[in-house]
This record gives sequence, structure tokens and C-alpha cells, in this order.
Amino acid sequence: MRFVSQLFQPLLIIPKNAKVKNTEITCKSQKLLLECGLIRPTSPGFFALLPLARRALDKLEALVKQHIEAAGGQRVSLPALTAARLWEKTGRITEELLKVQDRHGKKFVLAPTHEEAIADLLADVGPVSYKQLPLLLYQISDKYRDELRPKHGVLRARSFRMLDAYGAHTLDQATEVYQRVGDQYGRLFDTLRLDVHRVAAPCGEMGGSESHEWQVPAPAGEDHVAVCAGCGQPGGTTGSECQCGGRTESVNSIEVGHTFILGTRYSEALGANYVVPSGPPQPIVMSCYGIGITRLLAASLEALSTDTALRWPEPIAPYRAILIGPKEGSKEWSVYNSEQMLGLFDKLSSLPGLRNDIIFDDRHQMTVGKRILMADKMGYPLVIVCGKGVLETPPRLELHSRGETQLLTLGQLMWALQDGNEKVANKM
Ligand code: ATP
Ligand code: MG
Repeated sequence: MRFVSQLFQPLLIIPKNAKVKNTEITCKSQKLLLECGLIRPTSPGFFALLPLARRALDKLEALVKQHIEAAGGQRVSLPALTAARLWEKTGRITEELLKVQDRHGKKFVLAPTHEEAIADLLADVGPVSYKQLPLLLYQISDKYRDELRPKHGVLRARSFRMLDAYGAHTLDQATEVYQRVGDQYGRLFDTLRLDVHRVAAPCGEMGGSESHEWQVPAPAGEDHVAVCAGCGQPGGTTGSECQCGGRTESVNSIEVGHTFILGTRYSEALGANYVVPSGPPQPIVMSCYGIGITRLLAASLEALSTDTALRWPEPIAPYRAILIGPKEGSKEWSVYNSEQMLGLFDKLSSLPGLRNDIIFDDRHQMTVGKRILMADKMGYPLVIVCGKGVLETPPRLELHSRGETQLLTLGQLMWALQDGNEKVANKM
């Protein structure tokens, strides 16, 4: 979509302490996503993701894909319905599973995760040769959980997007694969400029020998991590002394990812083996890696936004830039009327860094100020405005980014918006 006037973005004005259809509003990301017309609840714990949220999620999924593939991941798609008998075999039939039955009475689980399905697939094609290991198979798909208390919008929903990757390896290879995926998690979170803490966690229900949670400190979080009150670095246990000499304290945090070395629990229960040159087939050692992608999107908004305005990690903003033209009939309109604005928009759209990533706020009947305020609330990283400066010779355009405004000629603006030049432009 090129024009804001045509965007499907149903804005909402939410009075304080309001309840919007099916949903209590309990946190910042939920409030802003609803207000700005990015999500819409459908029934408790379920959400429609509208075009701008979908765009942000597409970008985030592309980044996740890039990083898990850099760790050697190969993408697969498994059905959302998995046979209930697999879950009976691993003893994981719980209240949290959404279940369905077909016309023959066969029971299925709407998968909350796919360890059973992957182990069953490996068993079905197996036994695999030791030469094929280690393997890393991954999906990016919708998951379903009958959460007792869906909360905080997409942070705890009953259906959500998840990256789920599964390592299949020998015991000796497990640590290397676990490390390799963990490194890519770290890089992904760095790309998003998010402060994500990797915290050792109990293996619990899942079984296995090693586990880490990836936590983003944020007041809306339902978990806790220890951080140093002095320098903000992760601390060991609450109250201990940190490297900088400060004390660690416990802060709320959001679990955005969880990784496990699972061992052979699933492969043994479902018969997933590998063969070695001599001796009997061995159960495959598994590991698994989850990232809640919709949760990560909301968690990054929790971490970066203000109470009244969305702030995105730049690589996942729905559009990188928005262009705002003068109000119809104003003095500036005589320099940049709608036809000239379209020409300018085409020019900017031709820049590699903005191709398909800039939108034109063509609502000329609205004041420039109002449209700037709305663009700011939406959190577009670059806001380009044909304001009073276009009356100067040569005409100058405003570039608003990272809280700063610059007045630039078109040539300077085009140069500043080339990939990589932005930071330099900030110093011009
Ligand atoms: P939580 O403790 O928050 O309920 P979990 O430990 O049950 O999460 P995992 O089974 O580890 O979740 O799932 C992997 C990832 O999926 C989590 O780290 C989280 O990012 C995401 N996730 C889990 N449940 C939800 C949910 N209800 N809504 C959105 N994302 C979720
Ligand atoms: Mg978890």
C-alpha cells in the first residue's frame, strides 16, 4: 500500500480503564496496537493482525528466518493438527491443549509446539544415518494454547506465531548445536537492539539436561530477571554484587524465547533412531529452540515505546519512512501540490533503502501538524515533511528522525536516505 488514505487501519480512541470487545487493556503495547489500528481482538485471547502489524511481523519473520538459517536451519511445515496418540505416548496431554475430533472420532491436538510431530517424522523416515546428523529443522507457524488467562494482548494469546526449531543430533554434537543456535539468537536480538538476558532455566515439563530462557526486562513482564541497579547488566542472583560494584535487583521481564537440550525423551517415546557403523540403532538426541514471534514484537514495543507513542526496532517498523505533503490550499501547496508530491514520492520510493518501505500520507485536507503527530505516534523511523522550508530557494524539506529535525534540499535528502548515510546526515 502506498497511500495512508487507503490503509486499512481502524483507529480506536480508548478511554482510561476501558474494556474493548473481549479484552481488558492491561499494558502499553496492547493499548497502542489497538489504538493505532494494528490489531483487533476476535474472541478472548485471539487477535486479527491488521496490515501494519502484519508488515512488521513479516519483517521480523524474515530476520528470524535469516538467523536460524545462518545456524544451519532448514525450513519445514508440519500440519497444525497433530495426532493425539503422539501426545499420549509422550505423556503430554494437558488442559492447555486445544483438541479437535474428526468425523471418524479420531482425536487431534492443535499443536502448541511440535516436539512430538518432529520426533514422529524422524521415526517415520528413519532410522537416519549418523552421517546426516546434526540436523536442524525449523518452522515459523501459528501455535495454539488454551491459556487459562490470556493477558496483555498478543503477549499472552491463545494463538500466536512461533519460531520452533528442532535439533536432531548425537549426544556429543548437542552442545555445539545448542551453542550455534544460541549465538544466532544473540545476533538476532542485537539486530533489534534489544537488551535480552539469557537466563539458565529448569527443564521442567519438557525434560532434558539444559535450558535457557531469553528475557526482555519490561514492567509488563510476568517473569523476573536479576539486573544490576548500577549498570543494567544481567546479574546472577538478586541482591548479589555486580561487576561495577552495584547491587542486583529483580525486575519484571518477558520471556521471548526458550531453548532446551531435550535428550532422548521424545525420540525414545516415538522411536526416532539413528544408525551407527556398528552396534544397534541409537535414540536421536534432540534439542529445541522457540521464539514467540508475536510476543517478541510486542515485547520490543513494551521496551521501546513511550506511554503514548509506538517505538519500533528500526528493522521491523511497518514502514521505514512516511512522506507528508502540505495542506491543500496552503502557500506550500503551490510548490508541492498533489501531483508534485506524487512525483517526489516516486523519487523517494526509487531509493534502495526505501523501496516498498515508504508510505505517503496523502490526506491533504488535514494539517501538516496533525499528520506529523500521527506519524510520531505510529513510530515511523523517518518522517519526511514538505513544510515551510519548501518556500525557500532552493526548497528545503524536513527530515524528522530519532527526535531530531533537519532541513535539507532534495539532493541532500536523497543522499541522506541512501542506506548507511543516515547517521552521517544527522551530523550535517
Ligand atoms: P510462558 O511461561 O510465558 O507461558 P512458555 O514457557 O509456556 O511461556 P514455551 O513453551 O517456552 O512458552 O514457548 C516458546 C515461546 O513461545 C515462549 O518463549 C514465548 O516467547 C512464546 N509463547 C508461549 N506462550 C505464548 C502465548 N500464550 N502467547 C504468545 N507467545 C507465547
Ligand atoms: Mg518457556
